[in-house]
Amino acid sequence: MAQVIGIDLGTTYSCIAYLEGDEPKIILNLEGQATTPSLVSFTSSGERLIGNLALRQAITNPEKTIFAIKRFMGKKFNSEEVINARKRLPYKIAEAPNGDVMVNIDSKMISPQEISAMILRYLKECSEAYLGEEVNETIITVPAHFDDHQRQATKDAAKISGLNVIRVLNEPTSASLAYGLNTKKDATVAVYDMGGGTFDITFMEISEGIFNVLATNGNSFLGGEDFDNRIVEWLIEEFKKENNIDLSHDKLALQRIKEASEKAKRELSFTLESEIHLPFISSDKSVSKHIKKLLTRTKLEALTDDLVDKTLPFIEQALKDSKLEPEEIDEVILVGGQTRMPLIRKMITEFFGKDPIHNINPDEIVAMGAAIQSGILKGKMTDLVVLLDVTPISLGIETENNTFVRIIEKNTTIPAKKTMAFTTVEHDQKRVRIHVLQGESEVASQNKSLAVFDLVGIEGAPAGVPQIDVTFEIDANGLVKVSAKDLIAGREQKIEVKPSSGLTKEEIDKIILESQAKEFRKEEDDKTRSL
Ligand code: AMP
Repeated sequence: MAQVIGIDLGTTYSCIAYLEGDEPKIILNLEGQATTPSLVSFTSSGERLIGNLALRQAITNPEKTIFAIKRFMGKKFNSEEVINARKRLPYKIAEAPNGDVMVNIDSKMISPQEISAMILRYLKECSEAYLGEEVNETIITVPAHFDDHQRQATKDAAKISGLNVIRVLNEPTSASLAYGLNTKKDATVAVYDMGGGTFDITFMEISEGIFNVLATNGNSFLGGEDFDNRIVEWLIEEFKKENNIDLSHDKLALQRIKEASEKAKRELSFTLESEIHLPFISSDKSVSKHIKKLLTRTKLEALTDDLVDKTLPFIEQALKDSKLEPEEIDEVILVGGQTRMPLIRKMITEFFGKDPIHNINPDEIVAMGAAIQSGILKGKMTDLVVLLDVTPISLGIETENNTFVRIIEKNTTIPAKKTMAFTTVEHDQKRVRIHVLQGESEVASQNKSLAVFDLVGIEGAPAGVPQIDVTFEIDANGLVKVSAKDLIAGREQKIEVKPSSGLTKEEIDKIILESQAKEFRKEEDDKTRSL
């Protein structure tokens, strides 16, 4: 049976795994490493570099090295999070006609889905080289708190890369699957997941092979990058005080400061001090200026403790939703590189009254869980494993006075389905408009608009007589579907869907065709060159 790979497509690093027998195994990339930087760089000679190759020249090519693209997947250009992220972005982004984010490379607009697809295509290549066979199917993981647009964008990226997604799996659920199958212990576990760009907390029960997610919560704009930015801001501030030079608009200097900050942050998880030394960072009246600063762990903690505290309300809410008390948690699993920070571990120990588990690799466990899920779905696991996941965000519709009515509540086990009856308010009304939203606010406009549906072709009747059943569904991938049936006419209603975000099917097909044509041209060029 052809291999299905598990992909953890991270904000900063990505990881791939596959199943050998019942055992998940990490797939090394073409350079022999377990994780690959989620980076794409476009060079001046028109070359496209991915992963470590892109990382190596990020400093010299900051305007065309795209990092943390996951933060823009399925996001609106004018959303609060994107406005914040735009402040210190060395590469250019722009607004797509539908309000989505686009990356601007030499005036060519590229969607975040296409950038992610470039990373995924590289991971596919690595897997094929490692396994020695073609790979066409994947289980791809996403932060538990990703909404429908973010999930759909991830799925579209995989499709563009030539991978068929057989399941979109929540990262914390994936991690606990790997943990639970490894230990074979029944337990109530918390998964605290902080990677480069997102934070999630999930509570779940593992009992006799049944993995039951009780509740999940999180923030898709809180992660390791925010910690790096605090160090960057501190260094810029200090440099300004000492030299009266503002480096915040110097892209080359910023990229060097950013890399050095991330490196110092990593070091400070294991040491108490780290020296940040950046010679020739700027010059003033032809005098060269350098950054030489000692960052202590205490200073780093003072710069970032509010970011750690910001995760607390999410933990409390998810705990409340799971109807658990902190002392009922048997184990805390840490996922994502940022959880190596001692301050995060200290906060967790204090909150749950126990140390988190130490013996798992937070960079690899999510991809391993995805590989296990492939075994479950393909019937390859010898043990009985049942995974019951939940939807992270409530699904509902807009009613009068901008009110949001919940149809499927957050933390409902998926797949979930609910039907609601709609009727007309006017005599001989032919069309009913339904606005589908995802979110937790009582005010409709504060939630995320997923789509507007027009139920058309309703048979003429007095107001209130037609009955149209609209079914809202969340599938096992956490993706939303809506269908409608006119009960009087006894036929399926026609729905006109206007998705508020994402690429249309036609756009995706066009991108795939274009990239296939490019591949073909490249192959022909290569052939010509070798003649
Ligand atoms: P992930 O997306 O799970 O690969 O997590 C990447 C994030 O973890 C990045 O922001 C890294 O800077 C951060 N990270 C990796 N190693 C460490 C470490 N030793 N201490 C603190 N943060 C780290």
